[in-house]
Amino acid sequence: MKRTAIYPGSFDPLTNGHLDVIQRAAKLFDRVIVAVAKNEGKRPLFTLAERVALVKSAVAKLPNVETDSFSTLLVEYVASCQAQAIVRGLRAVSDFEFEFQLALMNRKLDEKIETIFMMPKDTYTFLSSRIVKEIARLGGDVSSFVPPNVQVALGKKLEPRRLSSAKK
Ligand code: ADP
Repeated sequence: MKRTAIYPGSFDPLTNGHLDVIQRAAKLFDRVIVAVAKNEGKRPLFTLAERVALVKSAVAKLPNVETDSFSTLLVEYVASCQAQAIVRGLRAVSDFEFEFQLALMNRKLDEKIETIFMMPKDTYTFLSSRIVKEIARLGGDVSSFVPPNVQVALGKKLEPRRLSSAKK
């Protein structure tokens, strides 16, 4: 049987921390699907199509990693992919409470699906999409936090906004 894991998230945008988790999961599972959540409620900076395209090109060299999007209940999406596990990243204790709740809720909804937590390399434990966006918004260098395609996309998205707010 092929072992498939789903790595869900907003990926707004993908960071090197996410990539680290993807690479670790790709060693454990036959197939990993990075599933970008629509999450309109979070008012993402990048559209769903943009977030998917950024992940897709960043994982292009990993043969057993695919990219998809979903807007349904996560456990329903996982079952529709015939996957056995959900992968989530744990950075610090601060992630634990929310992730613990989410994992137990998903188990209540479908007890066949396991949640696996992966810890990134220590240098990525302070990284989040939110912090990366904040640094980029203020014109800081994000090259060591995100893959090159994401760095370019952040520049294109935020440069016009920076220029217009600098004029005010
Ligand atoms: P969500 O909106 O679902 O939290 P994110 O895109 O922020 O989506 O994160 C997806 C998953 O990746 C979550 O499990 C989150 O804890 C994890 N994650 C985010 N940043 C990192 C990082 N730097 N290292 C490891 N895991 C991370």
